[in-house]
Amino acid sequence: MTKFVFVTGGVSSSLGKGLTASSLGRLLKSRGLRVTMCKLDPYINVDPGTMNPGEHGEVFVTDDGGETDLDLGHYERFIDESLTKMSNTTTGSIYSNVIAKERRGDYLGKTVQVIPHVTDEIKDRIRRLGSLGADVVIVEIGGTVGDIEIVPFIEAIRQYRRDAGRGNVCYVHLTLVPFLAPSGEQKTKPTQHSVTELRSRGIQPDVIVCRSDQPISESLKRKISLLCDVPANAVISAVDAPSIYDIPITLHEEGLDRIVCETLDIDIDQRPIDLATWQRVVSRVHSTNRTLRIGVVGKYVSMPDAYLSVAESIRHAGFAHGAKTHIEWIDAELVPQEVTSETLRQLDGIVVPGGFGERGIEGMIATARIAREHDIPYLGICLGMQVMVIEYARHVLGLSDANSTEFNSTSSAPVIALMAEQLEVTDMGGTMRLGAYPAMLTPDSVVAALYGTTVVSERHRHRYEFNSRFRENFEAAGLVCSGTSPDGRLVEFVEQSEHPFFVGTQAHPEFKSRPDRPHPLFDGLVAAAAQRAEGREPHIFTPETVDTSSL
Ligand code: GLN
Repeated sequence: MTKFVFVTGGVSSSLGKGLTASSLGRLLKSRGLRVTMCKLDPYINVDPGTMNPGEHGEVFVTDDGGETDLDLGHYERFIDESLTKMSNTTTGSIYSNVIAKERRGDYLGKTVQVIPHVTDEIKDRIRRLGSLGADVVIVEIGGTVGDIEIVPFIEAIRQYRRDAGRGNVCYVHLTLVPFLAPSGEQKTKPTQHSVTELRSRGIQPDVIVCRSDQPISESLKRKISLLCDVPANAVISAVDAPSIYDIPITLHEEGLDRIVCETLDIDIDQRPIDLATWQRVVSRVHSTNRTLRIGVVGKYVSMPDAYLSVAESIRHAGFAHGAKTHIEWIDAELVPQEVTSETLRQLDGIVVPGGFGERGIEGMIATARIAREHDIPYLGICLGMQVMVIEYARHVLGLSDANSTEFNSTSSAPVIALMAEQLEVTDMGGTMRLGAYPAMLTPDSVVAALYGTTVVSERHRHRYEFNSRFRENFEAAGLVCSGTSPDGRLVEFVEQSEHPFFVGTQAHPEFKSRPDRPHPLFDGLVAAAAQRAEGREPHIFTPETVDTSSL
């Protein structure tokens, strides 16, 4: 029988609901349970694909091409499972289905209403995910109780306990316990109010997770227990952690997984926890003995969540090399005038991540040039690869007008162009190459050495491609196309071997990195950055000298 955990949040947004849910997922998995997760987002967009990453954070892409909320990235990294687009549902996607059904006449003349039609659609999504073989489905509800948009979701999950049976559903509510400096006290009132709000919708939480900057005392837990009507051992103190990867351990020590299992009638004696793998992750996180400076040059740097998976991937690679990675967020528009070549040369490595639109492009191209000319390890991701190609065309091939047709549709050297230039772009969501695609790597390439194989699969999210018409010119000049689609038509990886590390990929490798298994390309970048930091002669990263034993 599949069990369901619903995670709601109160008091304030950004309390770390996604990380709490992910950590719980990891703990249950460490008890040998098969876990899957999903996020219900109350906004009206059908998916986050059309949302500005500068406001909403990164769009996380799944293997099956789902454009999803960034919390799915936390889920994948914590539970170490690849999810699908079924793991993210929004109000917009629910309503578009309900309206399509109404148009088809599926409701047989009934008046279509929020209850039961919208709530049934929400429950169907949850049920379908539960039918795929998981022991536990963890469902995070985006937003905060009390939000106007959240009401149908709260109603659907309230009904779910009746449908699935009491012992099969657990409600976890996350709140904030602020410390008020003038009175020198932690305050429980916001928690009480938020639980009252949840109860007014018919849900009595089974577990209350309290975020705070200092541990919550036993007496405060007893107070919350009394006022919110949960057992004292179901009040979990989630104190700020030094690293997000500490959270599962903290929550386990507080007994979160134990109380959730008890609520779900899961016998914990039958399911002893094995946290050894995760403990290894945590000890790697904390046993760094040097710091590397990695610059991320992009246009949404004032909102680092826009590059969340990139940042985590850099960190994962750092853990593997015993290095703390300090990420310098650099606004591409400031390069090279305000952030000069001199400044960039102080970095140990550079990542130019993905992006859309023209803003900052010239700064990214300048960054690629500085990295190439000054032997700074450089990883170009999607747009970051495209600017690397444009730069090479302009300054090595001498095609001064080289560009992507995304930025100059009349360029005489369109080295990056649409798959089919004649494509009529009407539906902005419909023309992307999305999701996992295989690629074949050239046997002696840097990338093949890093991956340790010549057949790889990576996730994509872009419209434009390397223009193969120019491929021979590039290769003759030293920029090698080291990976292509299996039919050889699409260039997926480029690299320059006479450089410590100058690699670009049309894909988004950041979506597949795990804390205990850094992605090979980030691993390569950080290895080269570590070499640079040691002040040795720039290390030429040829396949012969790459140690793949740790990959
Ligand atoms: N804007 C580029 C394209 O559409 C790159 C997209 C990206 O970096 N994800 O191809």
